[in-house]
Order: sequence, then structure tokens, then C-alpha cells
Amino acid sequence: MTELNDLPIRESLKGRTPYGAPQLHVPVALNVNENTHEISEDILIDIISRLAQSLREINRYPDREFTALRESLANYLGHSLTAENLWAANGSNEVLQQIFMAFGGPGRTALSFTPTYSMYSLIAQSTDTKYIEVEREHRYELSVDFVVAAINKHKPDIVIICSPNNPTGTPVELAVIEAAYEATEGVLVIDEAYAEFSLNENSALSLLSGRERLLISRTMSKAFSFAGARVGYLAANPAVCDAMRLVRLPYHLSALTQAAAEAALSHSARMLATVADIRDQRDRLYVALQDMGLDPYRSDANFILVGGIANPEQTWQALLDRGILVRNVGIPNTLRITAGTEAETTAVIQAITEILS
Ligand SMILES: *Cc1c(COP(=O)(O)O)cnc(C)c1O
Repeated sequence: MTELNDLPIRESLKGRTPYGAPQLHVPVALNVNENTHEISEDILIDIISRLAQSLREINRYPDREFTALRESLANYLGHSLTAENLWAANGSNEVLQQIFMAFGGPGRTALSFTPTYSMYSLIAQSTDTKYIEVEREHRYELSVDFVVAAINKHKPDIVIICSPNNPTGTPVELAVIEAAYEATEGVLVIDEAYAEFSLNENSALSLLSGRERLLISRTMSKAFSFAGARVGYLAANPAVCDAMRLVRLPYHLSALTQAAAEAALSHSARMLATVADIRDQRDRLYVALQDMGLDPYRSDANFILVGGIANPEQTWQALLDRGILVRNVGIPNTLRITAGTEAETTAVIQAITEILS
């Protein structure tokens, strides 16, 4: 049987493993930080009718500039942004890949603060960008002095900070982002995949004006209940969007993706109506975990990293045996749990209580 290493694959890809969160069908899936609430029927019907409309022209290539979608995204974000400030792709993972293709590559370096989103190192590998991992401070926090010192030491071409951070949930203060921007001559990417679960004033969107090397990555996959549609986007200076045009494939966003995303954004208030409840469930989960004697980390996202778990593999399996899927991200003595619906949160709290007793 032919194996990967028998092929004339690029040297830098040899021995690598792909992204692979287990995809299992279980009653309670709290492993990849989706919004577990379903979309309302009337909104779904509106999305379907706009998809049907776009199908009538599916023999033609879509709008390569996805102008209507960029306008919808600018309206949604506010902060006086216009379509020129917006870029989109098939998930923010693709946006991040385009950023690495444009600003990273052979001979260049990217720096992030770990533990953080596993895709950064994978995208660095696939674009032959050197990836520097700096371990976060006590309880995964980041301070101004710490971040500035790391940037001064390594002088990376790309600094990428996830806020709130996946998998730890840690929010990052705007003062840290301002200082990181001043310290670097490269681009500063803030991955705000979970921004809607955080308080509004924590978004780095308020810092965009006058900072042409600041890139803010967002997604419809999490708060927006749209993970299956694959829509991520970027807010930045219009020149950054021009850089993205150099590396994107022509017509990379299908007409169906554009239509579905525009339709969903036209219902943004209702699409996000579950966010407040998810936050409540996250806070409820946090307190419950503490009461069990576990060590949850503070989170501004829709998940909690729980420390103090003696045997994460065993606990992960015991939860799965009860129909509940959570995530073992490989940090010793921890598991990461998404805050779901009230019923799902109740189920996971009950199951952990049982397993621990
Ligand atoms: C889920 C996630 C993404 C989003 O990925 P999509 O490609 O938009 O689905 C990006 N960054 C972080 C930190 C995430 O957790």
C-alpha cells in the first residue's frame, strides 16, 4: 500500500499530521465551539429562497468581489467600516491562510502565544512560514510587557493573537493589542472568532482607524450559528484587502455561500439572539465546575477550559459513554467544554458530577 511518505511530497510536509477534531455523532456535541442552537424556521426559509434565486444564475461565475456581502459585513460590524475594509473567504481559516500567503512564506516568521488555536501552526507549516510559539503567562493571561518583550526579541513578520483565546477562553485587553501594534513592524492579526460572546468594548475593531497593519479576523461559524456555511471575514485597511486579492483563487466564494451569508446577515439581530443565553450557560458551567472542586479558567468565549481533571482521556471517554462529546486539546489535566443550550449544559454538569463521584 502506498503511504504518504512514499510520495514525492514537499520536504516540509513530511511527518506532519492534519487537523483532526473527532467528528462523532452523539446526542450532545460540545467539542468544537459551535452555537448548538438551531436557526429559526422563518429565517431558514428566507435563506433557502435566496439560495434558490442564486441557483437561477448558477451557470455564471459569482461576483468575484462579493461586494454585496462585503457591504453586509461592514454594516454588521459598524465602527464606520465600509465594504473596502472587508474581506471574506471560506471560513476564517481560509482568511488566515491568505494572510500567511501574503505576509508570511519562506524566510518569514509568525509568532503567537500558546496554548492557542492549533490552525496557526498548521497554516504556518503549509505556507513554509517559521512559527514561533511563546508560552503564555500565569493562567494563560497576556500582559503588555510580556507581549512587547516577545515581539522585540523575535521581530516576527506576523503576530497573531487570539482574543478571546481558543482553547483557554482568555480575553486580551486592548492595551495589549495597542502595545503589540507599536512594537511590531509586521502585521498584527487579532483572531476574534469568539468576539460576539465577549463584551463589545473588548473588540479591536475600535483600534482599526489609523492602524494599517492591524488585521481583525472574524467568523460566522461560532456565535452566528453558521459553521456549515464556511464564512469567515477580515476587517482591515483597504490595502490589506488588496494583498488578499493577490493570493485568493478567482471566484473563491461561491454564489451559494454569498447568498446564504447575505441572507443570514440581514437577520443578524435574531441570528445572535441566543448569545446572551449561551453566555449565561457558560457562567453557570463555570460555577458548577468550581463547586465540583475543578479548576475552570476564566472565559470570555462560548467554552471553558477546565483544569484539575486527574485523567482527561478517561473523563473524555466516560462523557462519550454518556453521549457527550467534549474536547481534549492535549493540555495536561484539562478538557475544553462548549457552552450549549440549557439542556445540554445541564447534561454535561450532571455527567461530570456522576463521573467524579
Ligand atoms: C473556530 C475558530 C476559527 C474559525 O474557523 P472558521 O474557518 O471560520 O470556521 C478561527 N479561529 C479560532 C480561534 C477558532 O476557534
